[in-house]
Amino acid sequence: MRLFDHHIHSRRSDGTVSLEDRAKSALSIRPHGISDHYPWPTGMQNDDDVLRYVDDATQLGLRVGIEYDLGVAPPLTRSTHDALDYVIGSVHGLALDGTRIGYDLAGALLKGRTAPPYVEAPRFADPALQRRVLETHLALVREGILETGIDIVGHPTMSPLAALGDPESAYPIDWQERFIELCVVHGVAIEINEAYRVPHPAFLERAHARGARFAIGSDSHFALVPLDRTEAMIRASGLADGPFLDGRRVQDGVSSATSS
Ligand SMILES: [Zn+2]
Ligand SMILES: [Zn+2]
Repeated sequence: MRLFDHHIHSRRSDGTVSLEDRAKSALSIRPHGISDHYPWPTGMQNDDDVLRYVDDATQLGLRVGIEYDLGVAPPLTRSTHDALDYVIGSVHGLALDGTRIGYDLAGALLKGRTAPPYVEAPRFADPALQRRVLETHLALVREGILETGIDIVGHPTMSPLAALGDPESAYPIDWQERFIELCVVHGVAIEINEAYRVPHPAFLERAHARGARFAIGSDSHFALVPLDRTEAMIRASGLADGPFLDGRRVQDGVSSATSS
């Protein structure tokens, strides 16, 4: 199975590899695009920056996406959105009562960069806080789908709740079903993320049963990582027949509408 890897960073945000070298690995290792963070303090901050990125990466033969920071990124114009091959929308943290709840510590644990125990676990064991995280996280994804027009939800269930250990109990089934329905109704792909190993197999099975489409994302920041966990997740969830995105957004109805 040749899977297109949508989620890869370069030096244009927090990756260590140049766009030129990413273009080489797309030819020699596996088909992949590029998807740097938007916004990024030393990188893209506005439409002009994104359009320059599109030009630079397209000239190198890459498919070009961005990883749009949901709840944080400045809106893009329609034409900038359309110039991209795809937009990944990801939640990296939440604002609750004006206080930022970052996902970084949870993410580092899920990636295996830090060892258990998860130091924030006592705080996120609070059911009232869990409910607020769930609802705010889902609201950011909904806004990304309805207002930004994202094509892929990046690492959909990466959050402090996933880091508690058992995602199937941390994410109520009703919440999972609402998340999946939102994606299915709007044709938005659910990312299978190699780095964070999310979503968990039961979520993927549910999504598959509801007719979701999927997108592969290694979330590589350094050398291209193999898709070992992704392939194991696909096997465990019975997703081998997809459907998977192949490096471009799905253009519903465009071909018939443009014939004259
Ligand atoms: Zn991310
Ligand atoms: Zn990323």
